[in-house]
Amino acid sequence: MEIAIISTGNELLRGAIADTNAAWIASRLHERGLQVSRIIVAPDDHDELISVFRQAYNSFDLLIVGGGLGPTIDDMTARAAAAAADLPLVRSDDAVRRIFAVFERLGKHMNEINLKQADLPQGCEIIDNPVGTAPGFALQTGRAHAFFLPGVPVEMKPMFENCILPTLEDRRSGQHTSTFKCYGMGESDIQAALAEFPASHPGIELAFRPSFPEISITFRAQNAATLDAALAHARQILKGTVFAWEDIDIPTALGRALLDKQFTMAVAESCTGGLIGHEITQVPGSSAYFKGAIVSYDNNVKIDLLGVDRQLILDHGAVSAQVATAMAKRARTLLHSDIALATSGVAGPDGGTEEKPVGLVHIAVAHEGGIEHREHLFKGYDRARVKKAAAWIAMQMALNIISEKR
Ligand code: ATP
Ligand code: MG
Repeated sequence: MEIAIISTGNELLRGAIADTNAAWIASRLHERGLQVSRIIVAPDDHDELISVFRQAYNSFDLLIVGGGLGPTIDDMTARAAAAAADLPLVRSDDAVRRIFAVFERLGKHMNEINLKQADLPQGCEIIDNPVGTAPGFALQTGRAHAFFLPGVPVEMKPMFENCILPTLEDRRSGQHTSTFKCYGMGESDIQAALAEFPASHPGIELAFRPSFPEISITFRAQNAATLDAALAHARQILKGTVFAWEDIDIPTALGRALLDKQFTMAVAESCTGGLIGHEITQVPGSSAYFKGAIVSYDNNVKIDLLGVDRQLILDHGAVSAQVATAMAKRARTLLHSDIALATSGVAGPDGGTEEKPVGLVHIAVAHEGGIEHREHLFKGYDRARVKKAAAWIAMQMALNIISEKR
């Protein structure tokens, strides 16, 4: 089956937004063993859209088109979709009813121009939009089964999940997969560590997916025994770098470990500026174990709020093992937690010195058994990466400490 995704919108071509919808759809299809052959971005231009649609109707079996279903003049997908299929555009009574119902549910006044969203190719099938006003639609035309969805991600995603995915055959059925999550080792080093794999485990397919700073490795096989043998071998090779034997991120793994051991956690953040607190609280249910974060960016906040000794900062500087350690200890005491993390570093691009260059980060974890400290120099990282890498190391240190506790 040949599959294409067409994203429409001048904002995509201007670079004002990235085409995250296509990436999301492609990965959802990939999970089912369906490979996308093309991702096309088309402008908000009637003639261009007709030509792109016409060609796609005849080249692909499955077509997913996103965007341009709104009521404004730059929303021209339905008209172009109809023209390319040589169908008239007609006002759909069913779509009108659905649009009225949405406005009624939201208690909002409907503007006449919203009814433009009910002008659809004759004979199309309407796809319910559970969130917004613009219905989607599907057409069988040329070679293609073409689906048209809104561009707004929160509208598009449930429509794709509810109305398109169930109609597709799962090509993965009968396949066995397992995913490991790694941290701390580069993609190419992991690849090198698994270099023997294709020869020693025929029938295993490996897929690497880096998402800085984590890497996921998916193992796939037609039969369970092949997969199990490969996983047992991979566990041996990768045990130092795998933080989860399933597809979860470090904040989630940390949360599960905290829940499991019934520990609570707090953070004192300097260079990470609240990022660790943010990441920990992205995990649903984190209130069960997360006490809070003190973002002590300024030295006076480290001193006045956190209670770090002024002399310590004068003697060693804020970016030092001594201060990071004191921050972690103070956060643990002040916020009454079992574990506390602290970060202090130079995120850059300015502020580096010969002694304390950009990318230098001190991380400390205070726990019942004592305190652990690590110093890292992230060379060549920009500010955002330094912050993220520091946050991840801190969370991984905490995860290791918690895992070792009974
Ligand atoms: P609306 O009713 O809001 O006009 P629409 O179906 O016409 O919906 P668009 O106008 O194309 O959709 O896009 C609306 C918004 O959705 C965009 O401003 C953008 O924020 C987001 N969006 C659109 N396409 C994409 C995409 N491919 N990836 C990520 N976000 C997108
Ligand atoms: Mg629009």
